[in-house]
Amino acid sequence: MIKARDVVKTYPNGVQALKGVDLDVAQGEVVVIIGPSGSGKSTMLRTLNLLEGVTSGEIEIDGNSLTHPKTNINKLREDVGMVFQSFNLFPHKTVLGNITLAPLKVKGIKQSEAVKIAENLLVKVGLADKRDSYPSQLSGGQQQRVAIARALAMHPKVMLFDEPTSALDPEMIGEVLDVIKTLAREGMTMVVVTHEMGFAREVSDRVIFMDEGLKIEENTPEEIYNNP
Ligand code: ADP
Ligand code: ADP
Repeated sequence: MIKARDVVKTYPNGVQALKGVDLDVAQGEVVVIIGPSGSGKSTMLRTLNLLEGVTSGEIEIDGNSLTHPKTNINKLREDVGMVFQSFNLFPHKTVLGNITLAPLKVKGIKQSEAVKIAENLLVKVGLADKRDSYPSQLSGGQQQRVAIARALAMHPKVMLFDEPTSALDPEMIGEVLDVIKTLAREGMTMVVVTHEMGFAREVSDRVIFMDEGLKIEENTPEEIYNNP
């Protein structure tokens, strides 16, 4: 589903955030990326979501090249849902409005259909009763679950999570990880940057260690668990 080859990303200021990274994620696989701050994890996710162009290298999502010059970036972006550390919800829109916005604007589907999709997603993330609330009325964990529902509303082929629980109080981390676990069970292809090693062990198929812009190790959770 995801195939990245020799991805190099040099920012305009000269920082080489990625120095030649390969990544393969099969359909339905969950890959966790860990590594110290500044190692390039966030940059890797952002190149997969086309938020950053690559300096060189190739990326394919579901057989479509992201890096070919003729690529229709907007179309491909719809295939990749992303959830950030900060929830980035629109403060002046209700929970429902946050989730329906992109399907309405980008996909052009009917209001009634968008509402139905959003309501189903709110059930999935356990927030059916918050439909008409505003983000400021929700806890951080609830806001992050809305952000996940919003990304899912585009019906993506792949979901990317960039430290989805790092900004949350400890008691809210579990509720967000539970939603991601449910998606894993349903077969969603996912790449998750996280420090939550318990989650990595329990849910991921592979754990990738990055350091200084390189993938330095790739293990199954069992291998890590048996060689602490
Ligand atoms: P991580 O997610 O592992 O913390 P990042 O991908 O955020 O790592 O950053 C990798 C390196 O690239 C760091 O040195 C960081 O300062 C630099 N970097 C990240 N984003 C930018 C940017 N937009 N412009 C310039 N340098 C950046
Ligand atoms: P994260 O933890 O997600 O990697 P950071 O705090 O590293 O976030 O970066 C936050 C934002 O600042 C990102 O959009 C990143 O691209 C940008 N950024 C990070 N490092 C630099 C840098 N050295 N120069 C310019 N922008 C940067």
